[in-house]
Amino acid sequence: EVILSVKDLTAEVDGVSILKGLNLEVKAGEIHAIMGPNGSGKSTFSKVLAGHPDYTVTGGEITYLGQNLLELEAEDRSRSGIFLAFQYPIEIPGVSNLDFLRVAYNSKRKFAGLDELDTFDFEDLVQQKLDVVQMNPAFLDRSVNEGFSGGEKKRNEILQMALLEPKLAILDETDSGLDIDALRIVSSGVNQLTTPDNAVVLITHYQRLLDYIVPDYVHVMEGGQIVTTGGKELALELEERGYTWIREEAEVAA
Ligand code: ADP
Ligand code: MG
Ligand code: MG
Repeated sequence: EVILSVKDLTAEVDGVSILKGLNLEVKAGEIHAIMGPNGSGKSTFSKVLAGHPDYTVTGGEITYLGQNLLELEAEDRSRSGIFLAFQYPIEIPGVSNLDFLRVAYNSKRKFAGLDELDTFDFEDLVQQKLDVVQMNPAFLDRSVNEGFSGGEKKRNEILQMALLEPKLAILDETDSGLDIDALRIVSSGVNQLTTPDNAVVLITHYQRLLDYIVPDYVHVMEGGQIVTTGGKELALELEERGYTWIREEAEVAA
């Protein structure tokens, strides 16, 4: 089952062209890593997938579960099973984490034609999901991400993911700012949530994350395109040799 198919995608922000012909196909059960130097367009790609209003798609196609993703509003993308963990999770002062999770969860159920879960059942469910990320329940009563450390914010993103059980999860540098224990917990959370029916796209700058979450494919993004694709061993090679050789080989090939 093809979950996501991206063809010749071009996109711009503030009139600046950033994505320059990106191709990617993600099938159910797969984990894809997208690596690449700073400024190569990785976060831009994740924001385009989410439907961020600042980003304009200027060409190409994105198909999600057989439908044209570009025709779906941002809310409907998330309700239909696309989950995005941003590189810099936002803080929402005055909204408790529990209320935020409940609204997100019930809005997804409603979209699927299901009734809202009552408060007690919802709290039971959240409790189970807290265990996945080994998170203290005290975080539920605090405002969303407000005053959370970098690692706590990332863990909170995985808690949201555990609850929403996405079909397609895109994690943008979820590993950055994590110490080794938090990295293990976040990775084990992601691994527990990976099934043959869903897919994960991990955007990362470092090979380290891929010691814990083993990808089926590693893609290198450079100048707004995916320029090389390989297996998990490509990440090790990048760690050793950096990104420059990829650029040189791509230039030779072109
Ligand atoms: P990555 O996540 O791979 O580090 P980004 O997608 O964040 O890269 O950025 C890709 C490029 O887009 C960078 O060169 C960045 O400076 C540029 N960019 C991002 N946002 C804007 C903006 N609002 N206006 C102009 N350029 C931008
Ligand atoms: Mg970056
Ligand atoms: Mg980025």
